Amino acid sequence: MQTNIKTRFAPSPTGYMHIGNLRTALYSYLLAKSQGGKFVLRIEDTDRSRLVEGAVEVIVDTLKTAGIEYDEGPYVQSERLDIYREYAEKLIESGHAYRCFCTQERLDSLKDEKGIGGYDGFCRSLTPEQVRENLDKKLPYVIRQKMPDKGVTKYTDMIYGEVAIDNSELNDQILIKADGYPTYNFCHVIDDYLMGITHVIRGNEYLVSTPKYCLLYDAFGWDRPVYVHLPLLMGKDGDGNVSKLSKRHGAVSFQDLLAEGYLPEAVVNYIALLGWCPKDTNQEFFTIKELEKLFSMDGISKSPAVFDYEKLRWFNSEYIKKMSDEEFDNRTIPVLEKLLSSDMNLKRLSGLLHTRISAFSDIEDSVKFITELQPVDMSFYTNKKNKTTPEICRDILADCLPILEQAEKWDNDSLFAVLKEYCANSGRKAGAVMWAVRVAVARQTVTPGGATELMDIFGREKSIERIKLALSELSENA
Ligand code: GLU
Repeated sequence: MQTNIKTRFAPSPTGYMHIGNLRTALYSYLLAKSQGGKFVLRIEDTDRSRLVEGAVEVIVDTLKTAGIEYDEGPYVQSERLDIYREYAEKLIESGHAYRCFCTQERLDSLKDEKGIGGYDGFCRSLTPEQVRENLDKKLPYVIRQKMPDKGVTKYTDMIYGEVAIDNSELNDQILIKADGYPTYNFCHVIDDYLMGITHVIRGNEYLVSTPKYCLLYDAFGWDRPVYVHLPLLMGKDGDGNVSKLSKRHGAVSFQDLLAEGYLPEAVVNYIALLGWCPKDTNQEFFTIKELEKLFSMDGISKSPAVFDYEKLRWFNSEYIKKMSDEEFDNRTIPVLEKLLSSDMNLKRLSGLLHTRISAFSDIEDSVKFITELQPVDMSFYTNKKNKTTPEICRDILADCLPILEQAEKWDNDSLFAVLKEYCANSGRKAGAVMWAVRVAVARQTVTPGGATELMDIFGREKSIERIKLALSELSENA
């Protein structure tokens, strides 16, 4: 066990948490915890043009809701500007960076017709006197990293293996911008070093730029961290192909998934397995505490994982089933209260929905048969198993209507007893009677709960009203 392991999650505050970012945070956290190490949260907000109000809260809340606890932070990069400047100056002194005074015009002239073009290193050769003069004139400048002209820079990524790049291909990237803010390319390296980060876990979009970061470590004479670049999360396209997971595939932010009725535990469990698999077990359900024990880097897959909404729904339905009735009711009844009239038996309805919905957003659809008077097809009354036809159902309903109208008590057990008694007296089969009543009340064949449970939920008035309506429809059409 490597107990001094320290990882970090370093999101830019964009205002939402993409599920891929949450996975990065989770793997980073789990790697640290699996080794008894520490996990740091750092907010990378130096791109001032992309600031979003309230975005830091979104990150902090998301991690909290997901059960990812940081040991240090949040560090905020915009509050650490002096530190970055100090380290940039050190690089200038050691000859690994230089001030560049080139105007936008000049930089534009280096670009080809597609607007692409690197920097030609013009300011590398300014003499100290020229630099002083420019500074005295208060000319704006950036600080650039001086890339080696020759040689190759290599590192070994834990997932992808060796990554090597010819130094001649590396641009003299900007470390400090003209506004005084550092670029991500620079300050994340400084912070990772100063914060003692041993393992950098992040999306693979940084795989090929990492040699540049390695050169910064080398320039300072610091040990490089271990790099773990995670394969992309993909979404399934309509045409059967896959592409980078984005909004057109469905909800892609943690907040949106929660708003669609997914439980945080289910999302975390599902994304933990999206690109990682535990050793020696087929177990699929894990709490975050279990994951903290089990996680290991060698379980991370090199191939891109495909986000499967159906699978997430399945996970979610299993997590919903595991909720206590009380917890489920607490979430469901307020939603039902908004959709249905309060004199209905919402507690019983909630009980029926508990094993039947896969996400809380299913509630509205699953009670449409109550809120709306749906058109009913006469064929619904035909059921082979129970040997019903529309004519038989019409006769059953005609018999049952006065009995139900006179029912003393209106609850599931009493109604069941009343209908059983009717079966005994009439010689009709319970299956047929229940079928007729259930279809009449629900106006659909698949329902949560049976005939008497539905009547209990609907209440006396609405049940009788629907049976009367069914009877008149059946009399006209059967
Ligand atoms: N701020 C960067 C991002 O959100 C972090 C990348 C990293 O982890 O180094 O993509």
